[in-house]
Amino acid sequence: MSYVDEVIAGVKVKNAAEPEFIQAVEEVLESIRVVIESDEEKYRKLAFLERLTEPERIIMFRVPWIDDQGNVQVNRGYRVQFNSAIGPYKGGLRLHPSVYLGIIKFLGFEQVFKNSLTGLPIGGGKGGSDFDPKGKSDNEIMRFCQSFMTELYKYIGADEDVPAGDIGVGAREIGFLYGQYKRITNLYEGVLTGKGLSYGGSLARTQATGYGLLYLTQELLKLNGIDIAGKTAAVTGAGNVAIYAIEKAQQLGAKPVTCSDSTGWIYDPDGIDVALLKEIKEVKRARLTEYTAARPNAEYHEGKGVWNVKTDLYLPCATQNELPLEGAKKLVENGCIAVCEGANMPTTLDATKYLQENGVIFAPGKAANAGGVATSALEMSQNSERLSWTFEEVDAKLKQIMVNITHNIDNAARKYGMEGNYVAGANIAGFEKVADAMKAQGVV
Ligand code: NDP
Repeated sequence: MSYVDEVIAGVKVKNAAEPEFIQAVEEVLESIRVVIESDEEKYRKLAFLERLTEPERIIMFRVPWIDDQGNVQVNRGYRVQFNSAIGPYKGGLRLHPSVYLGIIKFLGFEQVFKNSLTGLPIGGGKGGSDFDPKGKSDNEIMRFCQSFMTELYKYIGADEDVPAGDIGVGAREIGFLYGQYKRITNLYEGVLTGKGLSYGGSLARTQATGYGLLYLTQELLKLNGIDIAGKTAAVTGAGNVAIYAIEKAQQLGAKPVTCSDSTGWIYDPDGIDVALLKEIKEVKRARLTEYTAARPNAEYHEGKGVWNVKTDLYLPCATQNELPLEGAKKLVENGCIAVCEGANMPTTLDATKYLQENGVIFAPGKAANAGGVATSALEMSQNSERLSWTFEEVDAKLKQIMVNITHNIDNAARKYGMEGNYVAGANIAGFEKVADAMKAQGVV
């Protein structure tokens, strides 16, 4: 058996109850097979892939908090510090009832390669809890965040591990987490990113993942001789990534016509009204059904199915495995040109394969959504310098990073004879830098 197959088989046995983690590992190891097999014995002797797929540290803890009725609630908290070969651990915190160790491990593993792709000195980590923020009061959110940080603070630090937001963690939660960290440690340091502007946050961090997704999409289309202007786009999700993807798509002359949340989706043939969407999701924290009340031409559909809308581009920005094979088939049938992932691993492995085999340009999340973490790293730089850059400065750096990532993944795919396979390109380009650093640092 080849070394790659051996390790995949071992990961499946060892992590049998974690399908998302296995999926992420399989995708990466399949892509880097060509690199590993060029020097298989050396990698095997170093147990290199076993080390790459085993987190450096997993922290799991109890998060007790008291709800508004005075009842004690208990959630489980996680921080997976996956790989620090190229810098301090960096990656978001997710608050969602579906969170368990396998989700955090898959996200942490993906983060290692994503962070490497940004070209910035950041390692990979991820954390979160099975706490469900939906329907909770501000005080309940605060009490949860304070309890979560009361344990987490022991393991993080500006040069050690710097968490950020993810699903269910936005400016409000980061504020509560930061307040508690500072209170316990007495340190005013850049230990979290996505902070508010009045206490060390970076301009353009809120927009960064969505904007970055569109900068990469634009550049990738350009490499393929296609202009993004005038293209229709289907976006899924209605959170931080989706909202700013829609906003930037419009600024670049494309027309996004959909968005979705966990209960249903909107089709607005006139183009999504982004100001209305922000009002509903960022201010009122309400459901998408409110959108159609204000836009009579728009349709609301229960459940899933955004892929049924015929558009040129498809930008999944909600959650993992939201685009199944059935959806991919519909996209191909409708002549979709490109799928670029704003979310982490939103496309199943069989759907990805189908899209690629049918000539759809496919950009994986670890490249396409790297603008968020890249701008978080820019926030860390500003914190270290005790300086704040302008929106235009940060946005220009973000754009340059996304353009560089696009060319790096294209070049890596070409170098190994897989032109146009941006999944392979992203995994190989991300892997090479981490591998160099791991080899130089010995068996640790
Ligand atoms: P938000 O919490 O702001 O928004 C998430 C959106 O996705 C909401 O509309 C939510 O609907 C929907 N959603 C969440 N879970 C599910 C589910 N199980 N089924 C259907 N819809 C769901 O999160 P973000 O926008 O920050 O994150 C979206 C994706 O982008 C995630 O995969 C995240 O890991 C990834 N990402 C985020 C980055 C960031 O900077 N924020 C950076 C890089 C990647 P509802 O409100 O109904 O739950």
